[in-house]
Amino acid sequence: MINAANSLAEHWKDVPESDWEDWHWQIKNRVMTYDGLKEVIKLTPAEEIGVKRSKGRLLMAITPYWLSLIDEMRPTCPIRKQAIPTAEEFDVSAFDMEDPCGEDKDSPVPGLVHRYPDRVLLLVTEKCAMYCRHCTRRRIVGSEAHLTSPQNFEKAYEYIRNNHRVRDVLISGGDPLMLPDETLDDILKNLRAIPNVEFIRLGTRMPVTVPMRVTESLIAVLKKYSPVWVSLHFNHPKELTKRCRKACDMLADAGIPLGSQTVLLKGINDRPSTMRRLMHELLKARVRPYYIYQCDPARGISHFRTPIATGINIMEKMRGHTSGYAVPTYVVDAPGGGGKIPVAPNYVISQAKGSFTLRNYAGQMFTYHEPVEEGEVVRVSHQGKHAKKDVKTAETKTAETKPAAA
Ligand code: SF4
Repeated sequence: MINAANSLAEHWKDVPESDWEDWHWQIKNRVMTYDGLKEVIKLTPAEEIGVKRSKGRLLMAITPYWLSLIDEMRPTCPIRKQAIPTAEEFDVSAFDMEDPCGEDKDSPVPGLVHRYPDRVLLLVTEKCAMYCRHCTRRRIVGSEAHLTSPQNFEKAYEYIRNNHRVRDVLISGGDPLMLPDETLDDILKNLRAIPNVEFIRLGTRMPVTVPMRVTESLIAVLKKYSPVWVSLHFNHPKELTKRCRKACDMLADAGIPLGSQTVLLKGINDRPSTMRRLMHELLKARVRPYYIYQCDPARGISHFRTPIATGINIMEKMRGHTSGYAVPTYVVDAPGGGGKIPVAPNYVISQAKGSFTLRNYAGQMFTYHEPVEEGEVVRVSHQGKHAKKDVKTAETKTAETKPAAA
Protein backbone atom coordinates (compact mmCIF):
# COMPACT_ATOMS: atom_id res chain seq x y z
CA MET A 1 0.00 0.00 0.00
CA ILE A 2 1.31 3.45 -0.84
CA ASN A 3 1.75 6.29 1.56
CA ALA A 4 -1.19 8.53 0.59
CA ALA A 5 0.04 12.10 0.16
CA ASN A 6 -3.45 13.38 -0.68
CA SER A 7 -6.88 12.14 -1.58
CA LEU A 8 -5.92 11.11 -5.12
CA ALA A 9 -3.36 8.68 -3.74
CA GLU A 10 -6.31 6.81 -2.21
CA HIS A 11 -6.99 5.50 -5.69
CA TRP A 12 -3.96 3.21 -5.47
CA LYS A 13 -4.16 2.37 -1.79
CA ASP A 14 -4.51 -1.36 -2.47
CA VAL A 15 -1.52 -1.55 -4.79
CA PRO A 16 1.27 -3.60 -3.17
CA GLU A 17 4.33 -1.52 -2.42
CA SER A 18 6.47 -3.83 -4.54
CA ASP A 19 4.34 -2.85 -7.58
CA TRP A 20 4.21 0.84 -6.68
CA GLU A 21 7.99 0.89 -6.35
CA ASP A 22 8.52 -0.82 -9.70
CA TRP A 23 9.02 1.73 -12.47
CA HIS A 24 7.77 -0.73 -15.06
CA TRP A 25 4.49 -0.97 -13.13
CA GLN A 26 4.31 2.82 -13.03
CA ILE A 27 4.79 3.05 -16.81
CA LYS A 28 2.34 0.25 -17.52
CA ASN A 29 -0.30 1.84 -15.33
CA ARG A 30 -0.01 5.36 -16.68
CA VAL A 31 -3.30 7.13 -17.20
CA MET A 32 -3.55 7.81 -20.92
CA THR A 33 -7.25 8.08 -21.69
CA TYR A 34 -10.15 10.39 -20.92
CA ASP A 35 -12.10 7.60 -19.24
CA GLY A 36 -9.10 6.53 -17.21
CA LEU A 37 -8.47 10.05 -15.96
CA LYS A 38 -12.13 10.66 -15.14
CA GLU A 39 -12.03 7.66 -12.85
CA VAL A 40 -9.30 9.30 -10.83
CA ILE A 41 -10.07 13.01 -10.82
CA LYS A 42 -12.93 15.38 -11.48
CA LEU A 43 -11.93 17.40 -14.52
CA THR A 44 -12.59 21.09 -15.12
CA PRO A 45 -14.46 22.02 -18.33
CA ALA A 46 -11.17 23.22 -19.91
CA GLU A 47 -9.49 19.92 -19.00
CA GLU A 48 -12.43 17.92 -20.39
CA ILE A 49 -11.88 19.55 -23.78
CA GLY A 50 -8.09 19.32 -23.58
CA VAL A 51 -8.00 15.64 -22.66
CA LYS A 52 -10.59 14.63 -25.26
CA ARG A 53 -8.66 16.41 -28.01
CA SER A 54 -5.13 15.44 -26.97
CA LYS A 55 -5.25 12.32 -29.11
CA GLY A 56 -3.31 12.88 -32.29
CA ARG A 57 -1.41 15.76 -30.65
CA LEU A 58 1.04 15.52 -27.77
CA LEU A 59 -0.20 12.40 -26.01
CA MET A 60 -1.41 12.46 -22.46
CA ALA A 61 0.40 10.05 -20.15
CA ILE A 62 0.54 10.50 -16.38
CA THR A 63 2.21 8.10 -13.98
CA PRO A 64 0.24 7.04 -10.90
CA TYR A 65 3.07 8.54 -8.82
CA TRP A 66 2.64 11.97 -10.43
CA LEU A 67 -1.15 11.79 -10.18
CA SER A 68 -0.84 10.98 -6.49
CA LEU A 69 0.80 14.39 -5.98
CA ILE A 70 -2.04 16.38 -7.54
CA ASP A 71 -4.19 18.54 -5.34
CA GLU A 72 -7.62 17.41 -6.47
CA MET A 73 -9.36 20.48 -5.11
CA ARG A 74 -7.13 23.01 -6.89
CA PRO A 75 -7.41 23.37 -10.68
CA THR A 76 -4.34 25.63 -10.44
CA CYS A 77 -2.21 22.94 -8.75
CA PRO A 78 1.24 23.19 -10.43
CA ILE A 79 1.56 19.40 -10.64
CA ARG A 80 -1.83 19.14 -12.30
CA LYS A 81 -1.21 21.95 -14.81
CA GLN A 82 1.96 20.30 -16.07
CA ALA A 83 0.24 16.99 -16.79
CA ILE A 84 -3.42 17.45 -17.74
CA PRO A 85 -4.11 18.98 -21.17
CA THR A 86 -6.50 21.92 -21.32
CA ALA A 87 -8.46 23.59 -24.12
CA GLU A 88 -5.78 26.32 -24.24
CA GLU A 89 -3.43 23.90 -26.02
CA PHE A 90 -5.54 24.39 -29.12
CA ASP A 91 -5.10 28.17 -29.17
CA VAL A 92 -2.36 28.95 -31.62
CA SER A 93 -0.70 32.33 -31.29
CA ALA A 94 0.77 34.33 -34.18
CA PHE A 95 4.36 33.54 -33.18
CA ASP A 96 3.99 29.83 -32.39
CA MET A 97 6.46 27.54 -34.16
CA GLU A 98 6.54 23.83 -34.84
CA ASP A 99 10.25 23.58 -34.11
CA PRO A 100 10.99 26.73 -32.04
CA CYS A 101 14.66 25.96 -31.42
CA GLY A 102 15.33 25.13 -35.09
CA GLU A 103 16.66 21.68 -34.20
CA ASP A 104 15.58 19.95 -37.39
CA LYS A 105 17.64 22.22 -39.62
CA ASP A 106 20.76 21.59 -37.52
CA SER A 107 20.38 17.83 -37.70
CA PRO A 108 23.08 16.28 -39.90
CA VAL A 109 21.86 12.73 -39.19
CA PRO A 110 18.51 11.56 -37.75
CA GLY A 111 18.34 12.06 -33.99
CA LEU A 112 21.47 14.22 -33.76
CA VAL A 113 21.48 18.02 -33.41
CA HIS A 114 24.77 19.84 -33.95
CA ARG A 115 24.47 23.56 -33.28
CA TYR A 116 27.34 24.63 -31.06
CA PRO A 117 30.94 24.00 -32.14
CA ASP A 118 31.99 21.41 -29.57
CA ARG A 119 28.81 19.71 -28.47
CA VAL A 120 25.90 17.72 -29.85
CA LEU A 121 22.47 16.66 -28.73
CA LEU A 122 21.69 12.99 -29.22
CA LEU A 123 17.98 12.16 -29.21
CA VAL A 124 17.73 8.48 -28.32
CA THR A 125 14.00 8.02 -27.86
CA GLU A 126 10.76 9.89 -28.45
CA LYS A 127 9.11 8.36 -25.37
CA CYS A 128 8.67 9.93 -21.91
CA ALA A 129 7.17 8.65 -18.68
CA MET A 130 4.91 11.67 -18.56
CA TYR A 131 4.20 14.12 -21.34
CA CYS A 132 4.69 17.61 -19.96
CA ARG A 133 2.13 19.97 -21.38
CA HIS A 134 4.79 22.66 -21.87
CA CYS A 135 7.13 20.38 -23.86
CA THR A 136 9.07 22.32 -26.47
CA ARG A 137 9.90 19.15 -28.42
CA ARG A 138 6.26 18.14 -28.74
CA ARG A 139 6.61 17.80 -32.52
CA ILE A 140 8.43 14.49 -31.98
CA VAL A 141 7.87 13.55 -28.34
CA GLY A 142 5.30 10.79 -27.93
CA SER A 143 5.31 10.13 -31.67
CA GLU A 144 6.68 7.19 -33.57
CA ALA A 145 9.74 9.01 -34.92
CA HIS A 146 11.84 5.83 -34.59
CA LEU A 147 14.89 7.67 -33.35
CA THR A 148 15.99 4.53 -31.59
CA SER A 149 16.75 2.45 -34.65
CA PRO A 150 20.22 0.87 -34.43
CA GLN A 151 21.05 2.28 -37.87
CA ASN A 152 20.41 5.83 -36.62
CA PHE A 153 22.59 5.28 -33.57
CA GLU A 154 25.42 4.02 -35.78
CA LYS A 155 25.14 7.06 -38.05
CA ALA A 156 25.24 9.35 -35.01
CA TYR A 157 28.34 7.66 -33.54
CA GLU A 158 30.05 7.86 -36.89
CA TYR A 159 29.25 11.57 -37.20
CA ILE A 160 30.64 12.28 -33.73
CA ARG A 161 33.73 10.17 -34.40
CA ASN A 162 34.41 12.06 -37.63
CA ASN A 163 33.91 15.50 -36.09
CA HIS A 164 36.86 15.86 -33.80
CA ARG A 165 35.70 19.16 -32.37
CA VAL A 166 32.75 17.43 -30.73
CA ARG A 167 33.82 16.81 -27.13
CA ASP A 168 30.46 17.00 -25.33
CA VAL A 169 27.38 14.83 -25.95
CA LEU A 170 24.02 15.46 -24.31
CA ILE A 171 21.85 12.34 -24.45
CA SER A 172 18.23 13.36 -24.50
CA GLY A 173 14.91 12.57 -26.18
CA GLY A 174 12.11 12.07 -25.11
CA ASP A 175 13.53 10.69 -21.94
CA PRO A 176 16.59 8.41 -22.25
CA LEU A 177 15.69 6.64 -19.01
CA MET A 178 12.67 5.15 -20.80
CA LEU A 179 15.19 2.84 -22.45
CA PRO A 180 16.19 -0.41 -20.76
CA ASP A 181 19.45 -0.33 -18.80
CA GLU A 182 21.08 -2.60 -21.39
CA THR A 183 20.36 -0.11 -24.19
CA LEU A 184 21.67 2.78 -22.10
CA ASP A 185 24.77 0.74 -21.36
CA ASP A 186 25.28 0.19 -25.07
CA ILE A 187 24.85 3.89 -25.93
CA LEU A 188 27.27 4.95 -23.20
CA LYS A 189 29.78 2.29 -24.20
CA ASN A 190 29.74 3.48 -27.81
CA LEU A 191 30.12 7.13 -26.83
CA ARG A 192 32.94 6.43 -24.36
CA ALA A 193 34.78 4.57 -27.11
CA ILE A 194 34.98 7.74 -29.23
CA PRO A 195 38.32 9.38 -28.39
CA ASN A 196 37.13 12.98 -28.84
CA VAL A 197 34.15 12.59 -26.47
CA GLU A 198 35.26 14.02 -23.12
CA PHE A 199 32.00 14.97 -21.50
CA ILE A 200 28.71 13.02 -21.44
CA ARG A 201 25.47 14.38 -20.07
CA LEU A 202 22.12 12.67 -19.80
CA GLY A 203 18.95 14.78 -19.66
CA THR A 204 16.02 13.16 -17.88
CA ARG A 205 12.83 14.02 -16.06
CA MET A 206 12.10 10.51 -14.81
CA PRO A 207 13.65 10.95 -11.35
CA VAL A 208 10.99 13.68 -11.00
CA THR A 209 7.98 12.05 -12.68
CA VAL A 210 8.69 8.45 -11.64
CA PRO A 211 11.57 8.42 -9.14
CA MET A 212 11.36 4.62 -8.92
CA ARG A 213 13.33 4.62 -12.18
CA VAL A 214 16.51 5.29 -10.19
CA THR A 215 17.53 1.76 -9.33
CA GLU A 216 20.81 0.19 -8.24
CA SER A 217 21.17 -1.35 -11.68
CA LEU A 218 20.73 2.03 -13.44
CA ILE A 219 23.30 3.55 -11.11
CA ALA A 220 25.73 0.73 -11.90
CA VAL A 221 25.43 1.57 -15.61
CA LEU A 222 25.98 5.30 -15.05
CA LYS A 223 28.97 4.63 -12.79
CA LYS A 224 30.51 2.24 -15.28
CA TYR A 225 31.00 5.12 -17.73
CA SER A 226 31.70 7.77 -15.11
CA PRO A 227 31.62 10.68 -15.20
CA VAL A 228 28.13 10.94 -16.66
CA TRP A 229 26.46 14.18 -15.60
CA VAL A 230 22.72 13.96 -15.07
CA SER A 231 20.62 16.96 -16.02
CA LEU A 232 17.24 16.88 -14.30
CA HIS A 233 14.17 18.98 -15.01
CA PHE A 234 12.34 20.46 -12.02
CA ASN A 235 9.74 23.21 -12.26
CA HIS A 236 8.15 23.50 -8.83
CA PRO A 237 9.19 22.90 -5.20
CA LYS A 238 6.27 20.47 -4.82
CA GLU A 239 8.13 18.08 -7.13
CA LEU A 240 10.81 17.52 -4.51
CA THR A 241 8.90 14.91 -2.57
CA LYS A 242 10.47 12.58 -0.05
CA ARG A 243 10.46 9.86 -2.72
CA CYS A 244 12.09 12.09 -5.29
CA ARG A 245 14.77 13.16 -2.78
CA LYS A 246 15.53 9.51 -2.19
CA ALA A 247 16.19 9.09 -5.92
CA CYS A 248 18.42 12.19 -5.94
CA ASP A 249 20.27 10.90 -2.87
CA MET A 250 20.95 7.57 -4.58
CA LEU A 251 22.43 9.35 -7.58
CA ALA A 252 24.42 11.85 -5.52
CA ASP A 253 25.72 9.16 -3.14
CA ALA A 254 27.02 7.31 -6.20
CA GLY A 255 29.03 10.41 -7.11
CA ILE A 256 26.88 11.30 -10.12
CA PRO A 257 26.88 15.09 -10.61
CA LEU A 258 23.33 16.49 -10.73
CA GLY A 259 22.07 19.70 -12.29
CA SER A 260 18.58 20.98 -12.96
CA GLN A 261 16.90 22.90 -15.73
CA THR A 262 13.68 24.75 -15.09
CA VAL A 263 11.22 26.18 -17.59
CA LEU A 264 9.66 29.47 -16.58
CA LEU A 265 5.94 28.72 -16.65
CA LYS A 266 3.05 31.11 -16.14
CA GLY A 267 0.93 30.20 -13.14
CA ILE A 268 3.40 27.52 -12.06
CA ASN A 269 6.71 29.10 -11.08
CA ASP A 270 6.55 32.70 -12.28
CA ARG A 271 6.74 34.23 -8.80
CA PRO A 272 10.19 35.02 -7.38
CA SER A 273 9.29 33.41 -4.05
CA THR A 274 8.32 30.12 -5.76
CA MET A 275 11.42 30.06 -7.90
CA ARG A 276 13.69 30.85 -4.95
CA ARG A 277 12.10 28.10 -2.90
CA LEU A 278 12.59 25.65 -5.77
CA MET A 279 16.29 26.53 -6.03
CA HIS A 280 16.75 26.15 -2.27
CA GLU A 281 15.06 22.76 -2.26
CA LEU A 282 17.26 21.64 -5.17
CA LEU A 283 20.43 22.58 -3.29
CA LYS A 284 19.18 20.65 -0.26
CA ALA A 285 18.79 17.63 -2.56
CA ARG A 286 22.36 18.16 -3.89
CA VAL A 287 21.09 19.26 -7.30
CA ARG A 288 22.80 22.35 -8.68
CA PRO A 289 20.37 24.77 -10.42
CA TYR A 290 21.73 25.21 -13.93
CA TYR A 291 19.32 27.00 -16.26
CA ILE A 292 15.97 28.75 -16.14
CA TYR A 293 14.61 28.65 -19.67
CA GLN A 294 12.25 31.22 -21.05
CA CYS A 295 9.32 29.13 -22.33
CA ASP A 296 9.76 28.56 -26.07
CA PRO A 297 7.08 29.62 -28.55
CA ALA A 298 6.15 26.02 -29.40
CA ARG A 299 2.74 25.53 -30.94
CA GLY A 300 -0.05 25.29 -28.37
CA ILE A 301 1.86 26.31 -25.25
CA SER A 302 1.50 30.09 -25.34
CA HIS A 303 -0.69 29.92 -22.21
CA PHE A 304 2.48 28.91 -20.31
CA ARG A 305 4.59 31.78 -21.63
CA THR A 306 5.44 34.88 -19.58
CA PRO A 307 7.00 38.16 -20.67
CA ILE A 308 10.81 38.11 -20.52
CA ALA A 309 10.53 40.88 -17.90
CA THR A 310 9.08 38.26 -15.54
CA GLY A 311 12.26 36.21 -15.83
CA ILE A 312 14.49 39.25 -15.36
CA ASN A 313 12.54 40.22 -12.26
CA ILE A 314 12.99 36.71 -10.86
CA MET A 315 16.75 36.92 -11.42
CA GLU A 316 16.80 40.37 -9.81
CA LYS A 317 15.14 38.89 -6.72
CA MET A 318 17.63 36.03 -6.53
CA ARG A 319 21.11 37.33 -7.36
CA GLY A 320 22.58 38.75 -4.14
CA HIS A 321 19.49 37.84 -2.13
CA THR A 322 20.46 34.19 -1.82
CA SER A 323 23.45 31.85 -2.19
CA GLY A 324 25.18 32.09 -5.55
CA TYR A 325 24.87 28.32 -5.93
CA ALA A 326 21.08 28.76 -5.89
CA VAL A 327 21.14 31.17 -8.81
CA PRO A 328 20.93 29.54 -12.25
CA THR A 329 21.44 31.32 -15.57
CA TYR A 330 18.27 32.61 -17.18
CA VAL A 331 18.34 32.03 -20.94
CA VAL A 332 16.20 32.56 -24.00
CA ASP A 333 16.65 29.86 -26.61
CA ALA A 334 16.67 32.06 -29.70
CA PRO A 335 13.65 31.21 -31.89
CA GLY A 336 14.69 29.60 -35.13
CA GLY A 337 17.94 28.16 -33.83
CA GLY A 338 20.24 30.89 -32.49
CA GLY A 339 21.05 28.94 -29.35
CA LYS A 340 20.81 29.98 -25.71
CA ILE A 341 21.17 33.67 -24.98
CA PRO A 342 21.68 34.65 -21.34
CA VAL A 343 19.41 37.42 -20.11
CA ALA A 344 20.00 39.18 -16.80
CA PRO A 345 19.17 42.38 -14.97
CA ASN A 346 21.46 45.22 -15.93
CA TYR A 347 24.08 45.85 -13.26
CA VAL A 348 26.31 48.13 -15.36
CA ILE A 349 24.99 51.66 -14.95
CA SER A 350 27.63 53.44 -16.99
CA GLN A 351 31.03 52.89 -18.49
CA ALA A 352 33.74 55.49 -19.08
CA LYS A 353 37.42 55.17 -19.97
CA GLY A 354 39.03 53.32 -17.09
CA SER A 355 35.98 52.88 -14.91
CA PHE A 356 32.64 51.17 -14.60
CA THR A 357 29.75 52.34 -12.47
CA LEU A 358 27.89 49.32 -11.19
CA ARG A 359 24.92 48.76 -8.97
CA ASN A 360 24.67 45.95 -6.45
CA TYR A 361 21.64 43.78 -5.59
CA ALA A 362 20.42 46.45 -3.12
CA GLY A 363 20.57 49.23 -5.70
CA GLN A 364 23.70 50.92 -4.28
CA MET A 365 26.20 52.38 -6.77
CA PHE A 366 29.91 51.59 -6.86
CA THR A 367 32.73 52.60 -9.16
CA TYR A 368 35.31 50.06 -10.21
CA HIS A 369 38.58 51.53 -11.54
CA GLU A 370 40.26 49.34 -14.10
CA PRO A 371 44.04 48.73 -14.08
CA VAL A 372 46.02 51.77 -15.23
CA GLU A 373 47.30 51.59 -18.75
CA GLU A 374 50.74 50.32 -19.59
CA GLY A 375 53.32 52.97 -18.72
CA GLU A 376 51.23 54.80 -16.13
CA VAL A 377 51.83 54.16 -12.43
CA VAL A 378 50.31 56.03 -9.52
CA ARG A 379 52.67 56.07 -6.53
CA VAL A 380 50.94 55.76 -3.17
CA SER A 381 52.51 56.73 0.20
CA HIS A 382 52.88 54.21 3.03
CA GLN A 383 49.82 55.76 4.66
CA GLY A 384 47.85 54.71 1.66
CA LYS A 385 47.43 58.31 0.48
CA HIS A 386 48.50 59.56 -2.91
CA ALA A 387 51.90 61.15 -2.29
CA LYS A 388 51.99 62.43 -5.80
CA LYS A 389 50.71 61.33 -9.07
CA ASP A 390 53.73 60.21 -10.96
CA VAL A 391 53.73 59.13 -14.55
CA LYS A 392 56.57 56.75 -15.24
CA THR A 393 57.66 54.72 -18.15
CA ALA A 394 57.15 50.97 -18.32
CA GLU A 395 60.92 50.43 -17.92
CA THR A 396 61.05 52.43 -14.68
CA LYS A 397 58.12 50.44 -13.29
CA THR A 398 59.83 47.13 -14.08
CA ALA A 399 63.13 48.21 -12.53
CA GLU A 400 61.51 49.25 -9.26
CA THR A 401 59.40 46.15 -8.89
CA LYS A 402 60.80 43.35 -6.76
CA PRO A 403 60.49 40.04 -8.58
CA ALA A 404 57.83 37.89 -6.88
CA ALA A 405 60.07 34.81 -6.74
CA ALA A 406 63.28 36.52 -5.54
S1 SF4 B 1 10.08 14.88 -20.06
FE1 SF4 B 1 11.07 16.45 -21.35
S2 SF4 B 1 10.89 15.69 -23.44
FE2 SF4 B 1 9.42 14.55 -22.18
S3 SF4 B 1 7.52 15.67 -22.36
FE3 SF4 B 1 8.54 16.43 -20.53
S4 SF4 B 1 9.70 18.22 -21.26
FE4 SF4 B 1 9.14 17.01 -23.10
